[in-house]
Amino acid sequence: MSFVNRFNQLNWDDISLSIYAKTAKDVERALAKPRRDLEDFKALISPAAEPYLEQMAQQSFALTRKRFGHTMSLYIPLYLSNLCANACSYCGFSMENRIKRRTLTEDEIEAEVAAIKAMKFDSVLLVTGEHETKVGMNYFRKMLPLIKPSFNYLAMEVQPLAEQDYAELKTLGLDAVMVYQETYHPSTYAQHHLRGNKTKFEYRLETPDRLAKAGIDKIGIGALIGLEEWRTDCFFVAAHLDYLERRYWKTRYSISFPRLRPCEGGLQPKSVMTDKQLVQLICAYRLLNSEVELSLSTRESEVFRDNVLPLGITAMSAASKTQPGGYALEDSELEQFEISDERSASRVEAMIRSKGFDPIWRDWHSAYSG
Ligand code: SF4
Repeated sequence: MSFVNRFNQLNWDDISLSIYAKTAKDVERALAKPRRDLEDFKALISPAAEPYLEQMAQQSFALTRKRFGHTMSLYIPLYLSNLCANACSYCGFSMENRIKRRTLTEDEIEAEVAAIKAMKFDSVLLVTGEHETKVGMNYFRKMLPLIKPSFNYLAMEVQPLAEQDYAELKTLGLDAVMVYQETYHPSTYAQHHLRGNKTKFEYRLETPDRLAKAGIDKIGIGALIGLEEWRTDCFFVAAHLDYLERRYWKTRYSISFPRLRPCEGGLQPKSVMTDKQLVQLICAYRLLNSEVELSLSTRESEVFRDNVLPLGITAMSAASKTQPGGYALEDSELEQFEISDERSASRVEAMIRSKGFDPIWRDWHSAYSG
């Protein structure tokens, strides 16, 4: 039993039609309810909800403050390798792109960690391409013990692993794993994932189940917005969250909503999401679920991040570099995608304070549970 069973009961076209059939009445009903379900979520992400954005934002703000106070967790990605044995149409690390490849050595990791610590971060997201042999378990076994002592919270965004591998990494200090399905539309998924292990749609879909069974503290899910019709894909993310929370209630969850960014290879989005629609989506996730963490990366612009910060977001990356060695070694040729908000960590910190929020340099939950 895994999310695949639930997924197979969901029909993409029916869901899409029912989202677009939602009316103003459905939106008003959803807004008036103290607890919302997935049908309400459909109404809140539908075009019919666009005139209700102000009300959605007010409720989202209030719910987020009630649960998370005026805090904002800050984290930074640490890219360990850009080697990849997959070919994803939207990614600069795709094996089909002729770019310089680098996997950080122990000394290089130490230099990166020192540069990150100098910026105050205590929460780090380790990122690699998906290369089982060169950046697989043997590499992680060596590198996690090197990195973990420097950070309160350690997250990873790497290839999907087996349950026992996650359990082992947990003993080495792993706290959280981000694994985005990219799109929940199987044939669109197949079009964008042409080679390597990432072609296995169902194995990826079951990864959060394996993570929860391995006892990982927090799991991040999401879709890459732009690969498919965004409303339907984001409904599937919500359905995935709903399934996981019912089944693995001890685990914490976070959602990300990355929009396609320019990269080597230059894929154009099939479905464009405007800034206003992203605000609508963020508020809709919050109105559906007051506990889920919502994370916003530096893919988004300064102006957008500053404005949207109070509306439901609980964690932000800052000062990100998307290439291995980006903090201490510098080599912009290797980056995964271009970032948009290029401010330093201290400037992002100052912005957060200017809005009346407390920046937290570690994971929100670990900061308050000791
Ligand atoms: S998205 Fe991940 S798996 Fe796909 S090419 Fe990029 S690094 Fe590799």
